[in-house]
Amino acid sequence: MIILIFLVLGLIVGSFLNVLVYRLHTAEDIVWDRSRCPRCHHVIGWYDNVPVVSFVLLKARCRNCKKKISWQYPLVEIGTGVMFALAGAYFFNVGDPASWGPVIYLLGVLFALVAIFVYDALYLEIPDIVLWPAVVWVLAFGFFFSWNMVSLKENIFDIAMLSRFLGAAAAFAFFWLMARVSREKWMGMGDAWLVLLLGLILGWPRILLALFLAFLIGSIYGIMLIAVGKYTLKSRVPFAPFLVLGTLIALFFYAPIVGWYLGLF
Ligand SMILES: [Zn+2]
Repeated sequence: MIILIFLVLGLIVGSFLNVLVYRLHTAEDIVWDRSRCPRCHHVIGWYDNVPVVSFVLLKARCRNCKKKISWQYPLVEIGTGVMFALAGAYFFNVGDPASWGPVIYLLGVLFALVAIFVYDALYLEIPDIVLWPAVVWVLAFGFFFSWNMVSLKENIFDIAMLSRFLGAAAAFAFFWLMARVSREKWMGMGDAWLVLLLGLILGWPRILLALFLAFLIGSIYGIMLIAVGKYTLKSRVPFAPFLVLGTLIALFFYAPIVGWYLGLF
């Protein structure tokens, strides 16, 4: 039941994130405007705005102009829904108020990471207006957790502040250097500020796993693009989505992955 509630919450939040990213980019009113079709600007009724369900019922077309609705919409909704459900299933316990804070913290982190993922994938830019509030969010909760000795069954919350600062500084220095040396051709300064946030979230040494996975998944994606002939030297591939993916995997599965790796020897 808890999982279902978190899943539905995640679907709704994912639906809001789709709108948020679009409106941040076009600088429209984020909260109070009615949802509109991005093509014909027809106001979308609530019955056509139900996460995933409407996409299926409308067969991926706007009711008014019949133009295609992007797959981005249901994918972001499902992705956010699944992550919220994971967070709820692993960490939420109604009877234990001490678990509420960490879960709120985690949902906030997921919110920011999905927003950054989608924004960079669409517009090749890290939105400052999401990044810096997220940094404040992670620092505030980090201090709160370290003072209150939060320790749940998995310890992704009780990361020491020193570990967070070390992870952020190391990741930022590495990416800043790449951006500098390559004059922002390999890596943009936006990515350096992003890994600062990711380092604060994961701490040292978890951030290393996230960066490793980001480069690994990014390379595989690049090779696939070359294989299908879609990649040219002029192509700019957004890197933030890979950094976010690596971070999510490291956040939820650090212990089993490291255990598996050490078991190889
Ligand atoms: Zn339309």
